[in-house]
Amino acid sequence: MTRIAIVTGAARGIGAATAKQLASDGCTVAVLDLDAEQCADTVAAIEASGGRALAVGANVADSEAVAEAVALVADELGAPTVLVNNAGILRDNLLFKMTDGDWDAVLNVHLRGAFLMSRAVQAFQVKEGWGRIVNLSSTSALGNRGQANYAAAKAGMQGFTKTLAIELGRYGVTVNAVAPGFIATDMLRATADRMGVGFDDFLAGAAKEIPVARVGQPEDVAAAVSFFCSEAAGFTSGQVLYVAGGPKA
Ligand code: NAP
Repeated sequence: MTRIAIVTGAARGIGAATAKQLASDGCTVAVLDLDAEQCADTVAAIEASGGRALAVGANVADSEAVAEAVALVADELGAPTVLVNNAGILRDNLLFKMTDGDWDAVLNVHLRGAFLMSRAVQAFQVKEGWGRIVNLSSTSALGNRGQANYAAAKAGMQGFTKTLAIELGRYGVTVNAVAPGFIATDMLRATADRMGVGFDDFLAGAAKEIPVARVGQPEDVAAAVSFFCSEAAGFTSGQVLYVAGGPKA
């Protein structure tokens, strides 16, 4: 059976790799990002591999935009029953320099975004009696200097995940979180730029601290998301899987 999946923040990075992975798993994929035009590369890659995808533009933190986007997916592709809440931003700063805007922007995209998307999609999942939600957390949920906003959001994603798992389990819906460590994407390129370190040096320095002796790639995270979205994962719910090249508590 072909499942309809929505992956947020899927224009690039982990979201793009996840959208491609779910398409190769047999899903039809709504590739959602702030601007539909930015989704063209991900959609083209899926179609080139024989899959089906739709570009959708929406700000996940905007209630109306989310309702419209999910309705569009349902009209164009069918009832969405797989949701990956991946869209994310960084606004790093030490607490004394962190602005109200830095705090609100990060909490809005990660937490409010996951809430709005999940609330809209669960209506279809409950009706179908089957669903999968995967939320992107982070090793930063365990605490990370300069990331009070992001750490709070990513720890929040874990509590959100466990609560939805309890509420939605009886409807055949599982809810899990993947918490990546250091993954080589544009998000970390921006961090390296801000620190005045070249991206290659930044990656090499990070790899020294990782037990498997390399940084992660978006595909490493996509593989974990793929398992949680699979038919086989129906008895796995409310879990947080750290994908970090080594153990995390
Ligand atoms: P990325 O390369 O920066 O991609 C994030 C995507 O989300 C971008 O395409 C971005 O669009 C989109 N986005 C941002 N705000 C949005 C909004 N309000 N509505 C819809 N889309 C929005 O990031 P990534 O590294 O792939 O990270 C993906 C997820 O994994 C995030 O939740 C991140 O926190 C998490 N994560 C990443 C790492 C890592 O090491 N990279 C580690 C742990 C967790 P624009 O390009 O238009 O901004």
